[in-house]
Order: sequence, then C-alpha cells, then structure tokens
Amino acid sequence: MLTGIFCAALLLAWGLNWFALIPWRRSLDDHWTERARRLYPAHVSARLNIWLIPATLVLGQKLILPEVQAAWFLTALCAWMGTLLGSFPFDREVIPELASFRVWLGLVIASWLLQFSVWILFVAGFIVMPERFSGQTMWIGCGLLIFHTWINLGLFLRLARLFRLLGPPPALLKLIVAQVSQRMGKPCRVWLLDSPVSYAAALPLTGDLIFSRRIVEVHPEAEIAAICAHEIGHLTEPRMTRVGRWVGSLKFFPWLFVKPVVNEFAFGGLATLAVSSALLTVFSLRLARRMEERADAVACDNQAAEGIYARALERLYETNQLPTVMPGNRKVHPHLFDRMVAAGVTPAYDRPKPPEHVAWTTFPLCVVIGIEIGIVLSHAEGTELKRLFHPDPSSSTSVQSPDWKLLSTHSFTNNPYTNSTSSESQR
Ligand SMILES: [Zn+2]
Repeated sequence: MLTGIFCAALLLAWGLNWFALIPWRRSLDDHWTERARRLYPAHVSARLNIWLIPATLVLGQKLILPEVQAAWFLTALCAWMGTLLGSFPFDREVIPELASFRVWLGLVIASWLLQFSVWILFVAGFIVMPERFSGQTMWIGCGLLIFHTWINLGLFLRLARLFRLLGPPPALLKLIVAQVSQRMGKPCRVWLLDSPVSYAAALPLTGDLIFSRRIVEVHPEAEIAAICAHEIGHLTEPRMTRVGRWVGSLKFFPWLFVKPVVNEFAFGGLATLAVSSALLTVFSLRLARRMEERADAVACDNQAAEGIYARALERLYETNQLPTVMPGNRKVHPHLFDRMVAAGVTPAYDRPKPPEHVAWTTFPLCVVIGIEIGIVLSHAEGTELKRLFHPDPSSSTSVQSPDWKLLSTHSFTNNPYTNSTSSESQR
C-alpha cells in the first residue's frame, strides 16, 4: 500500500514536472531572459507539487480506503518522499551541476533536515496545544517564541553548519569580504554555502554573511565585492529595522493558537488570526523591500567602478535563470530590470513581459484536491463547519477528528520556518 503511494507520487511528480518544462525546452535558442521567463512557472509548480501531490494522495486514500485512515501520516510521508525523489529529473535538467544523484540527494537531505529541525517544535506545539486557553497555552506560546528568537539569533546558522550546508569560506572569498568590510567599517563573519545555485545573504540579527560556492565560481572578484557591499548594507540597518524584521518573522505565529481561538471565538477568532497574520506579512514584505532598495544603493556607492554592481546582478539572475521581471510587484526584491536601471545601467534588451505565476500542471491538482475536500466535508455531514460557526464547549473533542487535524496541520506546516530565514536578506 505505502509502496504504491510512494511510486504514485514519484511518477506524478516526474510526469507533471516533465510537462511543465516543455515551454522552457522549446526556448533553447532564445535569449536567457526569455528562457528564464519560461522556466519560472515550471519552477513554482515543481515546488508546489511537494505539498499538493501528498495532499491529493492522502485525501484520495481517505476516500477510497477509509479503513486505513489512521495511517494518513505514513501515507503523507511516503507521498512526500516519492514526490521529492520524482523531482530529481527536473532539478538535474534545470541545474546541470546537479547531474550526480549522490550530490543531489546529499543536498536535499541536508536542506530538509535543516528545515525540519526548525519546524518540528512548532508542529509539536500545535499538536499539543490545548483546545481551550489555559496556563499551558501560555507556556507553549512563550516557549516557542523563545525558540523562534533563538533560531533568528544564531541557532539557524549552527544547524546549517551541523548539517554541513555551511562551511568555512575559501581564502579568496574571505579576503574580499575582509577588504569590503574594512572599507565600510562593519565587521562581519562569512560562511560558504555548498550550493550549485548563486546565492548570497546577510543575517542582520547575527552579523553573518553567506555566499554560495556557485557565486564564488562564476563571478569576477570585483562583482563579488559589489555583492558583498550589498549584503554588508543589510548589516548596517538601523536597530529598529532589525526589531521590525524580527516582528515580521512572526507572521505565521498566530496560527499556533488556532485550536483554542476557534473553540473560544469561532469564526470571529479565525478571522482575527487571518487578519493579524496577513498584516504581519504585508509589514515584513514592505520592510524587506525598502531594505533591499537601501542595500542596492549602498552597493552602488561602494562598487569599484560604475556598472559593476548592475553586471553582478545580471550575472546572478542569468546563472539562476531568474526572470528579469517577476509576476506582480509583491516580491522582496525589485525586478532585475529596475535594479539595473537604478544602478545606472540600462539593460541591452527590452523590458520582458512577466512570466505566468504557475505552470498549467498545477491546476488539475488543485481541482482534484478541491473535489476531494468537498467530498470529505460532505461525508462529515457538516460537523466541522457547524462547529466553526457555532462552537459548542461540550463537544470540543470533535475538533480533534482526523479531518480537522489533517487540514489545519497542513496549513500550519506551510509556515516555512522560513520565518527564521525571513531575517535573512536573500539577494
Ligand atoms: Zn539584499
């Protein structure tokens, strides 16, 4: 049974990703900006598959084999592992440096171990959270708030080093960072991220910089120095901004209390959670966006010659096959096209159209999940919905039904303890 789920997830992931990449394959002779535009939706869909395919299979099993519902967690785990393994052909095709299965597997295991390490206490906190507000609610909330702060203040780095994702920088990178750091009067530590993707980040709350191996391999020294100036620009953010980053990183925290809040305040409580989470998200996004523009200006002021920073940005986006113009304007970083213009260089091509948000392959999955949820809720005879709008203290145990746990746990674990990384300033 579980082997079948694993194989079904693997084949679904492989097939859907293969279809999603067709437009990108057909753009082989186009300019890199067009290739990146075609790749973006396939990339987003491949990432969504990691959650959508297990959700489809878990709900499908619940409907087709209701007698084995108790094992839904094992089903989800097998489907998730199958989906991850089915993503290997996609990653290998898009990032040729990941051609070795051993290298790919090592990176995937290390990065998921890191994410699970910072998620697991929150998932546990959510599960053991009592149905009603009590002293235990406060202790769980305070404990996780301290843990979250610890992640932001250095635990994330320690774990990344433990899982060998981060290591000491090569001599050249160390020298470049030391020179820029001295010139800008801001001491910092630097780490090398073992990744085939070009990536650089600053952790303003700890004063650390991270550069990926790829960025060191691909960029000339002057461009690495310009990128370094951008990241050190983040380290010089005002104290209140750093506090704001920490507050914004709590955007998913309110959902920890969804069980007692729904029991005590029903739909009004749920709406309050959603609004507070949305407000924190908007706040953190706007703050991060302002800080990216500030760091870009700092990099321009500290580059060795006019245009170096703009070329570094362009090379980074080209290496990672990232679109020059993203869909929508709600990303942390401004569009590459605008960043280059702001850095004093007009790109040698017209402003490209933004890509689609997702590939078409995501829509069938969403439709199937929608139908499955509809059937599951109708089988529950509306009990869960009635409870949501008319809480009844005498029947609080019904909230613990598998349906409720399945749906709410899934949405909570979408809290990407990227919370912890939201204090990072990814380029
Ligand atoms: Zn940045």
